[in-house]
Amino acid sequence: MSNPLLDFSDLPAFDRITPADVAPAIDTLLERANAALETVTAADFPAQWNAIAQVLDVATEELGRAWGAVSHLNSVADTPELRAAYNEALPRVTEFWTRLGADERLYAKYKAIDPASLNAEQHQALKNAVRNFVLSGAELTGADKERFAQIQERQAELQQKFSENTLDATDAFAYYAGESELDGVPDDVRQAARAAAQAEGKEGCKLTLKMPCYLPVMQFATSSALRERLYRAYVTRASDQAEGDGKRFDNSDFIREILALRQEEARLLGYVNFGEVSVVPKMAQSPAEVVGFLRDLARRARPHAEKDVADLRAFAADHLGLSDPQAWDWPYVAEKLKEARYAFSEQEVKQYFTAPRVLAGLFKIIETLFEVAIRRDTAPVWHPAVEFYRIERGGQLVGQFYLDQPARTGKRGGAWMDDVRTRWLRPDTGQLQTPVAHLVCNFAEGVDGKPALLTHDDVITLFHEFGHGLHHMLTQVNERDVSGIGGVEWDAVELPSQFMENFCWEWKVLQHMTAHVETGAPLPRTLFDKMMAARNFQSGMQTLRQIEFALFDMLLHTEHDPAQDFMPLLGLVRSEVAVLQPPAFSRTAHTFSHIFAGGYAAGYYSYKWAEVLSADAYAAFEETASEDGSPSQETGRRYRQAILEAGGSRPAMESFKAFRGREPSLDALLRHQGMA
Ligand SMILES: [Zn+2]
Repeated sequence: MSNPLLDFSDLPAFDRITPADVAPAIDTLLERANAALETVTAADFPAQWNAIAQVLDVATEELGRAWGAVSHLNSVADTPELRAAYNEALPRVTEFWTRLGADERLYAKYKAIDPASLNAEQHQALKNAVRNFVLSGAELTGADKERFAQIQERQAELQQKFSENTLDATDAFAYYAGESELDGVPDDVRQAARAAAQAEGKEGCKLTLKMPCYLPVMQFATSSALRERLYRAYVTRASDQAEGDGKRFDNSDFIREILALRQEEARLLGYVNFGEVSVVPKMAQSPAEVVGFLRDLARRARPHAEKDVADLRAFAADHLGLSDPQAWDWPYVAEKLKEARYAFSEQEVKQYFTAPRVLAGLFKIIETLFEVAIRRDTAPVWHPAVEFYRIERGGQLVGQFYLDQPARTGKRGGAWMDDVRTRWLRPDTGQLQTPVAHLVCNFAEGVDGKPALLTHDDVITLFHEFGHGLHHMLTQVNERDVSGIGGVEWDAVELPSQFMENFCWEWKVLQHMTAHVETGAPLPRTLFDKMMAARNFQSGMQTLRQIEFALFDMLLHTEHDPAQDFMPLLGLVRSEVAVLQPPAFSRTAHTFSHIFAGGYAAGYYSYKWAEVLSADAYAAFEETASEDGSPSQETGRRYRQAILEAGGSRPAMESFKAFRGREPSLDALLRHQGMA
């Protein structure tokens, strides 16, 4: 009777959930959700928002919450038993959501709802729901419908093949270097490579194309010949240019077929090309707007990128004896120039960032700017290291969150925010459900009884994830699917997270957030200045590199004819954007997994787009800061109300304009990155 996954009275019973609970709970909840779907789609069921929500949304929310708890445990407290239970239930859960999203009876019911009966939040939620149905092919009939389904299935296969080829081509390469070839390569990389060779009973050091090996070799190896060998293998992976039998992983045909299917899918949905389909649920209004945005940014970054290259060339000639650096020399030259200009040790910086002090500093910013109080709270947890907090305003509960900081065995790497439950004025009880979030990091633990020390990157990560968390928890929206991050366009969803990162570069903030682990002294200004200078190292070149990818992606899905070879388009984009032309054999498109195997097709621009939004939003704080650099509380309130509280209840552009009084501008991003 007491399956903890079926108890929705309050917070999940993380301390009691066992792998054996998963299958019976998911079975029960799927049964309820299916029954709810049948109920609301019956011919005589009223086409009314609240009536549907009371039955269907209540059932799907329970399924979502229980499955969320299982997935969460699978990510942070993995055991073989739990993984087996998770994998067993996963296909059934996925099948339900897919079927729900394409159920034509439900689509018809939603379309029959009288818009006049809805409040503004419900109106937006309904609009999103109908849009998603249409993009899933709900309007298609007969042969078109069948073909649409075939296209989806074939695309999933091709994307899987594309990523397998990419992975296999990467794994297939190995070069066993002699010790003498590895001059300059850091000791830890060299040791790992030696151990890898030994494990295979081979001599020397095994070099691979995986990042932890490839990157340091390219940056540090003094042998240009060694770098060239790895570089050639890397940029020809999974292509027709791969050496020897590496050609068996060639992705060319898969890319062509994927592009053709996307084009066909777009036409079936009534659009000219896939780029147009991609932007429908996004903040950008059209592919042309995206292309214009990228070209504008490229034009303004170009002089800085040219200066970056000139600096590299001069340094290579004067200090490294390289009069004509090749593609495989640039990372090496850049690393040497960076060392010469900004030498400081990450190890030294870490001594000033103790986890408790950083957290206290972060909470102080949130409390001051967003007029809330953060207090420790209690809840069942999955590990003793997990902390639980509540956010209050004027004594009223606003939201709660779990904070799981340390890395440990059985916990997936990286950092993320996830929702436990969403703010929702429940249609079944009439009660307001407050939001709860997971904030998960993977920080090193403190040693010898000392607090954990964070790198500056860790600090930025923590602020970033809290930005997502605040978006989820400070929302004032009552409608589930557009509350918090729900329903936010995904080219805008990184606004609040990247926004928070800016505080990690404020002297005024860092001073109070740092204390040397031994002496208690704050971060020295000289060290901070070096960090600031290194922050924008080669930002011009990096910007153009991102724009090259983004522009290629958008043009490939709009102007390109899938029947033609796509390499000439890549060449055109490179000659338009890049300041350093890659060699003719370079085939980086063949491993561009974001757009061919991930969800970023005609959407890679989102990274830069959201950066512009977050930088411009933060500039409002710079413009209104007090003389001593403290951020304005009034600006904090306006930001909170316009962006965080509004969540997905209105288009992101409206929220942005409500806060900034105008459309976004590139100026702040360029200034922050030293390209003003
Ligand atoms: Zn993020």
